[in-house]
Amino acid sequence: MNVVVPKELFPGELRVALIPAQVPQLVQAGAHVFIEQGAGEASGYIDEEYKKKGAEIVNSRKNLLAKAQVVLKVRAGAADSEHPNDLKDVPEEAVVIAMLEPYMRHESFGLFLKKKLTAFSLERVPRTTRAQAMDVLSSMASVAGYKSVLIGAMHSQKMFPMMMTAAGTIRSAEVFVIGAGVAGLQAIATAKRLGAHVRAYDIRTASKEQVESLGARFVEFDLDTGSSESNQGYAKQMSEEFYRRQRELMTAELAKSDVVITTAAVPGKKAPVLITASMVDAMTDGSVIVDLAAERGGNCELTKLNETVVAKNVRVVGPNNLASSSAYHASQMFSKNISTFFLNMIKDKQWNIDLEDDIISSCLVCRNGSVFDESLTEYFS
Ligand code: NAD
Repeated sequence: MNVVVPKELFPGELRVALIPAQVPQLVQAGAHVFIEQGAGEASGYIDEEYKKKGAEIVNSRKNLLAKAQVVLKVRAGAADSEHPNDLKDVPEEAVVIAMLEPYMRHESFGLFLKKKLTAFSLERVPRTTRAQAMDVLSSMASVAGYKSVLIGAMHSQKMFPMMMTAAGTIRSAEVFVIGAGVAGLQAIATAKRLGAHVRAYDIRTASKEQVESLGARFVEFDLDTGSSESNQGYAKQMSEEFYRRQRELMTAELAKSDVVITTAAVPGKKAPVLITASMVDAMTDGSVIVDLAAERGGNCELTKLNETVVAKNVRVVGPNNLASSSAYHASQMFSKNISTFFLNMIKDKQWNIDLEDDIISSCLVCRNGSVFDESLTEYFS
């Protein structure tokens, strides 16, 4: 079986789908691994290392794709929105495994159907214990959570740790994390390591224990959060009245904070606006908001993707694709996730798409040219 790994083309995307360390496992499972020349260079993985581990380097993208029975990518489909025809050279009936953003209509999906491709969207890996090693969203959220704190610290005029010096005592910075999912918990841990005093808030009260286990204080508001969690453990979309009341209660917490990290997301929906312009106005001069939800519209009303907006001396940072900014480790994690997913479909060196396996069926979006999950039909038309 020919497994090909093209270089990522999306602007600013530095990750690679497979790193050299995972090549031997795939080879052992019966795959011939082909890597586009320089595919791992931007993330620190050189062609020589891939070769040493048993992969073959192909210098023409067209030739590489023409060999493919399986394509492993970080971004394809709507997640590589600027390259709708990127997979036009893959043979019919090839398999694509990547982040696809399948909830967004995109012309590339037309090509998937025309070429009778079978495509798996890694964003749809279920949040179960067995699937944990394949969960790219959690891996990338961890990287983003870590990086968000470094960005906050760089933009802040304050240092994070308490310091007792001959020139006086420096108080530790106040960090407030909104949304304690995977990214938020990693942000809390990172801010604690840097010595900040950390508070966090989430509408899922189940996260209180996790926040406290990291040594942060869980902020509670007098709000009815009874229906805030779905059966899968995700936050549900709340009413506008709920968000209005939440913003009212949150204003005082923001005013006490030097750095605010927002990570609140509702799967499949635009991010809820939790911080309005007037709340920013009430914050202390010099404070910083790092909005990790910027790619999904932002948790702060003032957020602009990929920009730092300065409003009344508060900096609102809207980073884009943070995982790519730590491309070496992000690729290492992505590569482990994608190869575990791939190997789960190999039995006795043979390709085996077992639809009884919930991980496989959850991620399968189209098969041999037909949309597999009917709820996605509108995005593939
Ligand atoms: P996410 O990225 O969907 O959202 C980030 C956080 O924002 C969530 O904690 C959410 O509750 C919170 N949020 C949403 N609206 C909010 C609001 N109005 N105010 C404050 N916070 C708000 O979250 P995630 O990282 O995907 O994690 C969601 C859950 O899934 C967590 O319980 C996490 O532990 C769990 N999880 C489980 C697995 C697994 O079992 N394999 C893997 C990953 C995550």
